[in-house]
Amino acid sequence: LAISTEYIAKKSPHISKIENTILKYNINVIKYFGPNNNFVLLKTKRKLTKRILQKITKSEDIEYIVTNDLVSIPRFIPSTPVTSNDWWHGHLQSEQAWQITRGNQNLIVAVIDTGVDYLHPDLASNIAINEDEIPNNHIDDDNNGKIDDYYGYNFFSDHSDPNDDNGHGTHCAGIIAANGKITGAAPNIKILPLKFLNQYGAGDIAKSIMAIHYAIERGAKIISNSYGTPNPNKALKEMIQYAEDAGVLFVAAAGNAHNNNDIRGEYPANFDLKNIISVAANGENRAQASFTNYGSYSVDIFAPGVSILSTDKNGTYKTRSGTSMSTPFVAGAAALMWSLDSNLSVYEIKENIMRSSVKQRQYYSKAY
Ligand code: CA
Repeated sequence: LAISTEYIAKKSPHISKIENTILKYNINVIKYFGPNNNFVLLKTKRKLTKRILQKITKSEDIEYIVTNDLVSIPRFIPSTPVTSNDWWHGHLQSEQAWQITRGNQNLIVAVIDTGVDYLHPDLASNIAINEDEIPNNHIDDDNNGKIDDYYGYNFFSDHSDPNDDNGHGTHCAGIIAANGKITGAAPNIKILPLKFLNQYGAGDIAKSIMAIHYAIERGAKIISNSYGTPNPNKALKEMIQYAEDAGVLFVAAAGNAHNNNDIRGEYPANFDLKNIISVAANGENRAQASFTNYGSYSVDIFAPGVSILSTDKNGTYKTRSGTSMSTPFVAGAAALMWSLDSNLSVYEIKENIMRSSVKQRQYYSKAY
């Protein structure tokens, strides 16, 4: 499940370049990325042997080297009939929450996914525009290393347009902050559209790290992550640890394979980090969704994920099911809490989310 000829190295902070260190192994440096450019994307002609990987790790210039694993949106789940298009509002107690706050427009939630239809009529007013950037002038006006990153960024193709060619990311964004025909959980906050998955919902760890780093740099307090891989990639974990140190909440989908995540991991949801909330799916009847992954230790919370109507690509609407949909609901609820009190720590937000949820015994293990 890795791109067999791509690797991510973590270089030691005491050197700036590793080209000379790896010269003898016939490895090409594609790019330096992440905090302090300490991650290096590498490409080889063929898969590296264990012996060479061990040699590279022994070098004092390189802390570790890992495969650049593939990640993707969880498998597609067909939707089933529900009694209303917005049944989940009752579960979230949206109306009661909105009497207190509909969200602070300075609060940014990054959606790292297939992109976002940032011109969608229900989303256009809630995009975290980069005001320091002049769009389409081919200049990196704010000098952040990204040219014309006005609406967000496309890490899949490395250009400025994060528009959505799948629909999945736009759907997640609408669940968080749609404000039109659809009303998301936190209709007044701002979405930062970050695309790193292609039109089929596939991408890789290096691109997800770039997107997470960019989200933190742009001031996102919450990152919504509806994608995964079975491999616990060390570089990705370290990037999310960096997000924790920056006080950023990382909400992640538990997956749609009806697995016990305590036994078979799903990452990033399963990483043992205190800023991660791992989200499984329930239906309108408050029971576990038939497809959802679960796990007493590995899953933090269940949220609505069956037959959710939200925004979709090209200004449309669509009903989708999955833990992909449950995840942005939790991101939206966290956004409301943080809107109310920006002094809360990431740990207090997570604790508030957990404490204000209903305890359902049947969620703790496989019930069906
Ligand atoms: Ca820029």
